Amino acid sequence: MPANFALDDDSVVVIIGSGAGGGTVSQQLTARGIKVVCLEAGPRRGLGDIVNNEPEMFVKLSWLDRRIGEGYAPDGMPVWSVKGVGGTTTHWTACCPRLHDFEFKSLSTYGEIADCNLADWPLSLDDMAPWYDIAEDMLGVTGTHGIERLPPSANFKVMEAAARKVGYSDIDTYNMAINSAPRNGRPACLQMGFCNSGCAINAKWTTLFNHIPQAEATDYYDLRPDSMVTRIVTDENGRASAVRYRDKDGVEHEQKARVVCVAANVVETTRLLLNSATERFPNGLANSSDQVGRNYMRHVMGMVFGVMPGEVNWYKGTTCAGVIRDEIKHDTSRGFSGGFQYHLLALGPEYIATNLVPNGWGKDYANLLLDYDKLSGVIITGEDPPQQSNRITLHATEKDQHGLPVPIVSYNKHPNTEAMLQYAYGRARSMYEALGATRTFTHEGFGATHNMGVCRMGADPATSVCNSYGQTHDIPNLFVSDGSLFTTSGSANPTLTIISLMLRQADYLAGELGSGAL
Ligand SMILES: Cc1cc2nc3c(=O)[nH]c(=O)nc-3n(C[C@H](O)[C@H](O)[C@H](O)COP(=O)(O)OP(=O)(O)OC[C@H]3O[C@@H](n4cnc5c(N)ncnc54)[C@H](O)[C@@H]3O)c2cc1C
Ligand code: SF4
Repeated sequence: MPANFALDDDSVVVIIGSGAGGGTVSQQLTARGIKVVCLEAGPRRGLGDIVNNEPEMFVKLSWLDRRIGEGYAPDGMPVWSVKGVGGTTTHWTACCPRLHDFEFKSLSTYGEIADCNLADWPLSLDDMAPWYDIAEDMLGVTGTHGIERLPPSANFKVMEAAARKVGYSDIDTYNMAINSAPRNGRPACLQMGFCNSGCAINAKWTTLFNHIPQAEATDYYDLRPDSMVTRIVTDENGRASAVRYRDKDGVEHEQKARVVCVAANVVETTRLLLNSATERFPNGLANSSDQVGRNYMRHVMGMVFGVMPGEVNWYKGTTCAGVIRDEIKHDTSRGFSGGFQYHLLALGPEYIATNLVPNGWGKDYANLLLDYDKLSGVIITGEDPPQQSNRITLHATEKDQHGLPVPIVSYNKHPNTEAMLQYAYGRARSMYEALGATRTFTHEGFGATHNMGVCRMGADPATSVCNSYGQTHDIPNLFVSDGSLFTTSGSANPTLTIISLMLRQADYLAGELGSGAL
C-alpha cells in the first residue's frame, strides 16, 4: 500500500526525482523496509496517456522549462529530458550496453590530453560486474542472461549489410531493455517503432511501470508527483535535514529527512546543489572542490543517413535495436583517444522537418520526404572527454516560474571530439555508399539525451564531489543518485550504468542506515 509520511518525520530518506536513478534507489530501499518520500516535479501518467505520436508525446513528456544553451549546446533545449514520474525512462529507447574496462580507466589508458580533466573512476569493471548482472536481469536486457535478442528490422538489415561491406563484424540487434518475449508481466515488442513515444504496450522497460509500482507495493513508499524541490536545507551541523518543495498549486512545504538523495538528472541536480548555498556552504552544497556543475559530458553524438536505392521503411521496427561495436577501442591511429559505437536509428518525418531541414519547407524538405521510405540511419555515440569549462551554472538575474535562477548549459566540443566525429562520419558515409546509397548526409547539434558528469566520483575530495557510492564528500547524508556521478563518459549509453550504480548505492545506504552510521 502506498504510504503517507508526515512532513516532520525525520526518519525518512527523501529522493528527489523518480527516473532511472531515483526510481531504482526508491525500489531498492523500500524493498528493504526503509521509509522513502520521493518528490517528483512532474505529473504521473498511465499507459492510457501514451499514444503512437512522436510530436504529441514530445510535448507531453519533455522538460520544457526555460534552459539556456551556450556554445555548441542549443539554446532553449540544450538538454532533452522528461518531467514526470519515471523520468526520462519514458522517452528513452532502452539501449543497455555496459561500459568497457578501459573506459573506467581513461587517464591511465589515454594519458593526459590537453584541456581535459580526465580521471580514472574509483571503480573497475570487476567492481561493477555483479551490479550490471542484477540490473540486466531486472530490466530483461536482450543478449544477456540467456534472453534472446530482438529480431532484425529492415533498417537493421541495411545497416548490417552496409557495415560488413567496409569490414565491420561485431554487429547485432544490441542489448535492449525491451522484451523479445513476454517477461515479468510485460508483453513482447510488436516492432511498432514508437519507442521514443513511451511504448503504448509496455514492452519497453521504464521505472514508471516497473520500479515505481514495485516500491508502492510495499508499505514504505510515499511518492509525491507535481512536487518541485526548490532547496535542500542543511542544519547547524552541516547535515542535510530537510527539502523544500512546491506542490502543483505553488504551495511550499518542507519535508524533514534523515538522508537526501538527489536524482534530478544532471542539469537540475546541479541547479539544486548550487541554489541551496548557505553561509557555511557559500559555493553551494557539496562544492568545496568547486567541481559541482563542471566536467559536463553529453557523449560525442552525430547522425548519419543514407538514401538507399530501394525502400527500407526504417520507421517499422524497434527504433534503436542495432549496434556496430568495432570502433569501441582506444586506437590513436584513427586520430583521437577513446572509442565510439554506431547504433541503429530511425526518425519520424516531423523531426526531419524541424531539425534536419530547419523551418521544414521548400525543395530540400520535399526531396527528403519523397525519399523518406528509402532512408536508413545510424547514430554515433562516443566518449566525450570531460572539460572543466563545460559546465552548468545559474543565471545571475533570470528566474523561472518557481523563482529559481534559470540554468545555463555551456558546452563546447574538444578537438578530440571533432576528430572522432569526422572519422565516424566518414566511415558511416562510406558504409552506406558501399551498399549503393544515392546520397548520404549527417546531422548533429541536437539537445543532449545522455547527460553525465557535474558531480564526479573520485577518491580525493579536493578534486571530486562524491565517493564511489555517490555519497558527497562534504555532507555524509547527502547522496547524488544519477548520471552526475560519472567520472568519464565512456561510449556506452549511460542508463544501465546509472541503474547499476544505484543498486550499489542503495545496498551501501541500507547498510549505513542499519548500522546507525547515518
Ligand atoms: C529520446 C531519448 C532516448 C534515450 N535513449 C537512451 C538509451 O537508449 N539508452 C540509455 O542508456 N539512455 C538513453 N537515454 C537517456 C536516459 O533516459 C537517461 O540517461 C536517464 O533517464 C537518466 O536518469 P536520471 O535518473 O539521471 O534522470 P531522469 O530519468 O531524467 O529523472 C530525473 C527526474 O527528476 C525529476 N526532477 C528534476 N528536477 C526536480 C526537482 N527540482 N524536484 C523534483 N523532481 C525533479 C524530473 O522530473 C525527472 O523525472 C535517452 C534519453 C532520451 C531523451
Ligand atoms: S517497437 Fe517495441 S518497444 Fe518500441 S514502441 Fe513498439 S512495441 Fe514498444
